[in-house]
Amino acid sequence: MTRRQFIKKLLITSLHSLSIVSLMPNSSSSAVSADSGPEILHYKPLNGRSLREIARAKEHHNSGGFVNPIGLGRDGRLWEVMKWKLFSENKFKPFFADEQVTPVTIDWNSVREHSGSSVTFLKHASVMIKDVDRNILVDPIFSEIFWFIKDFTPLNFEPREIPRPQHVLITHGHYDHLDKKSLASLNKNSHVLSPLGYDDIFEDLSMKNRTRLDWFDSFNDGRLNITLLPCNHWTMRSPITGPNRSLWGSYLIRLASGYTIYVSGDTAYFDGFEQLGREYKIDLAVFNVGAYEPRWFMAPSHMNPRETVQAFKQLKAGKMMIVHWGTFRLGNEPVHFPPMQIKEELKKEGLLDKLIDLKHGETLFIDS
Ligand SMILES: [Zn+2]
Repeated sequence: MTRRQFIKKLLITSLHSLSIVSLMPNSSSSAVSADSGPEILHYKPLNGRSLREIARAKEHHNSGGFVNPIGLGRDGRLWEVMKWKLFSENKFKPFFADEQVTPVTIDWNSVREHSGSSVTFLKHASVMIKDVDRNILVDPIFSEIFWFIKDFTPLNFEPREIPRPQHVLITHGHYDHLDKKSLASLNKNSHVLSPLGYDDIFEDLSMKNRTRLDWFDSFNDGRLNITLLPCNHWTMRSPITGPNRSLWGSYLIRLASGYTIYVSGDTAYFDGFEQLGREYKIDLAVFNVGAYEPRWFMAPSHMNPRETVQAFKQLKAGKMMIVHWGTFRLGNEPVHFPPMQIKEELKKEGLLDKLIDLKHGETLFIDS
């Protein structure tokens, strides 16, 4: 690299890093020393403690907001983003040429007409869950999030064509999950469920119909039951106000039929999946799989395919599908790698038949 090229890269990277430090995972010095190996833990072991006990003791609360009691506790380090973007080599680069822009088309009529439940993969981590006559929209993202991050799955339809959601679920505040522009296109009276916090954002959006959930809190509308569960992640909107001013979590959604969907949201691996699997019967686990490379940087915040399969086994879920891939290249791996790699990992475990292999725009019809 010439000096001029280096300076150009430095400038672009600084801009990129300042923005994505609010978006991207934390890291830790303990995870920097080596690549992912089974000997390196990217979480704080529970050591026999239950997640419920931790939540009851409010160990995830502090005076300024929240802390991650099961994580490694270093969130949003700008210098580590710089180190990753500027000084580390991306071994996946040769595969970027194979990434394809795939516009998303959805047959909303067949979703509407189906009398049972369904799960539709929109883009990135956005899914629409239909429960008979109710729609639950998770982490709505309808367009790009930053101009310099390419959108590989542009929607081929207007957001207004999306069936109106009765409930909008937000897993956490990272910009690729809580997108004000997408939320602004929804009806202001939509019922928004989020982890605790985010008041300023929803006030700005004039979305007042809200339910704020702490870990293990549930919302019930008489038929549906939605519970926020702990996970190993964090959140940030601005490097100035800092990380974890609001809470994050996974969701457990029990539909009227009793069919139960676990939505991981962003999470690193941790040793609480077994507890959740013991406590809840899960029919479908929707995992976020994407932005998991390089491991020294990503492992404390995002599971890779191997860890996802481990989590799936521990949850004892019936089926699995994956989202958070194919739309934005937020990690080193190309956007089309997660489905290939999850299949390899499932195959190794003899679990390939458990995968619901949905592409963007496709729908899983649960019953008729
Ligand atoms: Zn996140």
